[in-house]
Amino acid sequence: MNPLDPGEFRRQGHMVVDFLAKYYENIEKYPVLSQVEPGYLSKRLPSSAPQDEEPMEAILDDVHQHIFPGLTHWQSPNFFAYYQTNTSTAAILGEMLCAGFNVAGFNWVSSPAATELESLVMDWLGKMLDLPRPFLPFGNGGGVIEGNTSEAIICTLTAARDRVLRKLGHNSIAKLVVYGSDQTNCSFQKAARVVGIDPRNFRALKMTRSTLFGLSPDSLEKAIRLDINAGLIPLYLCATVGTTSCAAVDPLEPLCKVASKFSMWIHVDAAYAGASCICPEYRKFINGVEFADSFSFNAHKWLLTPLDCCCLWVKDPNALVKSLSTDPEYLKNEATESKQVIDYADWQLSLSRRFRALKLWLVLRSHGVQNLRSHIKNHCRLAKLFEELVEEDPQFEVVFPRNFALVCFRIHPSGVAGMLNAQLLHAINASGRVFMSHTTVGGVYVLRFAVGATLVTEKHVIMAWKVVQEHANSLLSMPASEQHSA
Ligand code: PLP
Repeated sequence: MNPLDPGEFRRQGHMVVDFLAKYYENIEKYPVLSQVEPGYLSKRLPSSAPQDEEPMEAILDDVHQHIFPGLTHWQSPNFFAYYQTNTSTAAILGEMLCAGFNVAGFNWVSSPAATELESLVMDWLGKMLDLPRPFLPFGNGGGVIEGNTSEAIICTLTAARDRVLRKLGHNSIAKLVVYGSDQTNCSFQKAARVVGIDPRNFRALKMTRSTLFGLSPDSLEKAIRLDINAGLIPLYLCATVGTTSCAAVDPLEPLCKVASKFSMWIHVDAAYAGASCICPEYRKFINGVEFADSFSFNAHKWLLTPLDCCCLWVKDPNALVKSLSTDPEYLKNEATESKQVIDYADWQLSLSRRFRALKLWLVLRSHGVQNLRSHIKNHCRLAKLFEELVEEDPQFEVVFPRNFALVCFRIHPSGVAGMLNAQLLHAINASGRVFMSHTTVGGVYVLRFAVGATLVTEKHVIMAWKVVQEHANSLLSMPASEQHSA
């Protein structure tokens, strides 16, 4: 047995590259949303591992026969659900280099290039986003690549918690309160739970259409004052730019002004929309970030980089280090002791870490800033096209003004029951031709059409709209008694 024979690696590696290239050539032939039933795979694959080796040809054949049917094709140009996690040749090859080197760069000495490239790439990106100087190394801040936004929030919330508890003593933990809106991603609630915030002290402030579902500074201030009067301690605000449901934008500057009065840690979660801020015309959405303590976005959503790749910047990296560092004997080394290097394990939850900077570096170099901006702008243009198509059809309405590349729409409610929209979505997705998702905002059920797949073009958007219209027409032509009522 030779698990890493260079000749076999080359032969099998080429085979997998060919396999994936063919997959991308044919990706539109597969139903976008997997149509299998739960438990389908155990009926097709053996119930225990083989005793002897099997050839890669047979394994890839099984991927084709048995794994493909259970794939929802996230890279299909007809995928318009959730927010995409898009990819690119450069990033896939970057992942390959990362897996090939397979370093666990927990500290500088464990692989200096992993640390230094990460700092460099985060600095490049910070400049692309025009992040304020205090987030960048020359302003005493710094950037790190976490796996995902959930981790970024857990790490910053931990740092915020400890900053306060160091002053007030650990017993004060029960008094700490965290704030977001009812549109803040569920990862915030989970983070608060993990970090030990009393669930009764988690504030998801209810937002309405009057603020376009952005967090209102007045509601925030009111909630904080109520909590202070009740003897509680405001700790952390999670403001969102581009919410998960409808891409709403919390107004950063006035929110930061409120939260700063109470010395709270302010985190800006721009998981989806942050990538768009590399375009000068979208940068305004993070105006006010200069008053925040931390900012993160997922390059794995919209910057041609596959999972996982969440970019987090903090003004005070030491706050992370104080909460997350450990100092076991087996990791002691001169570089760490010199304090001239970053040990990124101290900025994150796990000890070992992947060399994620490689894929981002390949993406930034292979495309350049101008092409990445065009990629984002093109998706926003395609979303606008879809929005116009919806608006031209009197049977439909765009429910919220479009932000970025997300259109929230539904069959116009006049005279039809609300469940019709859920039926419409079910029919669209069951067709396998496109995949969209839904949400409920302010009690309104909407279909979400998010443009973000790397391969999407105008043709796909127009076809998606035809699919919507076809299914809507057939539902609306049914006798009312056959349409489910709300
Ligand atoms: N925040 C926002 C605004 C999101 O849209 C999402 C996911 O879509 C998340 C956080 C969760 O991100 P992750 O899966 O990287 O933890």
